[in-house]
Amino acid sequence: QIMMKAEVEMSHVAEKTTSHLWNAMHRYNPDAQDMMAVSGEGSWFVDADGKKYLDGVSGLWCLNLGYGRQEIADAAAEQMRKLTYFPLTMNHPPAVELAGKISQLLGGDYQTFFSNSGSEANETAFKIVRQYHNQTGNQGKYKFISRYRAYHGSTLGALSATAQANRRVKYDPGAPGFLHVYPPYSYRSIFGGDPEESDLKAAQMLEEMINWEGEETVAAFIMEPFISGGGVIIPFPKYIQRVAEICKKHNVLLIMDEVVSGYGRTGKMFGFMHAEGVQPDIVTMAKGLTSGYLPLGATAVKSEIYDVFKQTGKDNHFRHVSTYGGHPAACAVALKNIEIIEKENIVERVHELGKAKLGKLHALMDHENVGEVRQVGFLLGLEMVTDKQSKVPLDEAKMGEIVGKCKEKGLIIGKNGDTVPGQNNVLIIAPPLTSTEADLNFVVETVE
Ligand code: PLP
Repeated sequence: QIMMKAEVEMSHVAEKTTSHLWNAMHRYNPDAQDMMAVSGEGSWFVDADGKKYLDGVSGLWCLNLGYGRQEIADAAAEQMRKLTYFPLTMNHPPAVELAGKISQLLGGDYQTFFSNSGSEANETAFKIVRQYHNQTGNQGKYKFISRYRAYHGSTLGALSATAQANRRVKYDPGAPGFLHVYPPYSYRSIFGGDPEESDLKAAQMLEEMINWEGEETVAAFIMEPFISGGGVIIPFPKYIQRVAEICKKHNVLLIMDEVVSGYGRTGKMFGFMHAEGVQPDIVTMAKGLTSGYLPLGATAVKSEIYDVFKQTGKDNHFRHVSTYGGHPAACAVALKNIEIIEKENIVERVHELGKAKLGKLHALMDHENVGEVRQVGFLLGLEMVTDKQSKVPLDEAKMGEIVGKCKEKGLIIGKNGDTVPGQNNVLIIAPPLTSTEADLNFVVETVE
């Protein structure tokens, strides 16, 4: 049925196709093998020729509840009919309810500012941080520190926090005041030795940097709990705990970028929750917040930070507006998405099936080209090398071949890393969190 529907839709597309679309890579070419998806259900989508693929990267790691959930589509439609649009220079019920829900899920007391994407959620965080320090007598605190290999978005501020040379080189110089520190990457760390110790030394690099820069100049540290776009780099929880302590000690706000790791992807509701006792000052999120059904970004800020922005007659409010941020339909979708995550115990499911099913991929460590298998929940990175001793990254052509072979067999996986600038030698696997056991078996068997 899906295939028939796809064929009908495709004939419609073909009539109208004139190749004026600039996708993230190039101009859409209807005559080449360019992927054109026309429909989807569960973890699978169908291309224009009617071929089915398991989406092993959940779109762009966002489609956490999979394709085609009727109740989410209905929530959006109902909200659009009821209140099509309303700006958050004032209020509407879905935004108020969602902000409350986010605070509850984060396990603290947070105020949330809405936007439309992960990049914007981070931009919003940067502006809040600078103004916060300005309004608390620390005007000199303006620098942001992030880690090499991090990805924080595509807009100029978020890209400046992103520290993969290959993504930045064509657009540098970035915004001033963005610094980068050594990541907790034990597989290739210069510190060597015990991996946990090596991660803790990476944390120590942050403190050294703050000291050398002068803590009175450092505003915030931004981190993904698990570096995702930079090759799925998974630190020990102690690293995150140590970093949180360092930030607190130096009055450096801790921004946790949960754009990928939020809402169950890693087997906890949020990635930072793997590190007991850590409560970030600011949490940014997007992707899994709506499972990609509509665009929505969110910047959740501890209430004590928000208090500095309370209207007091002085001009101390946050001078920042987003026309579509917190769109009523997107908030309604997020609320339905969260309701399903809770009702279907998605977080526990990811924790268990991540181990029982996707965890089988650890056996690939026996393969000569697999340097390391890194996994947290439904987020996996296989670091590919020419041989285990030299750890030379597997070249782009071979990586492309692996991804291409999987595609031939009906499985979409990704590659990223920028291990050496431009070398994407980490295979990425991040299927929808609702994938059936049969789906997960298919992922494992195909990759094997
Ligand atoms: N932060 C992280 C960790 C991401 O992986 C991404 C996107 O992949 C972003 C931010 C940017 O999100 P968006 O593409 O919605 O702007």
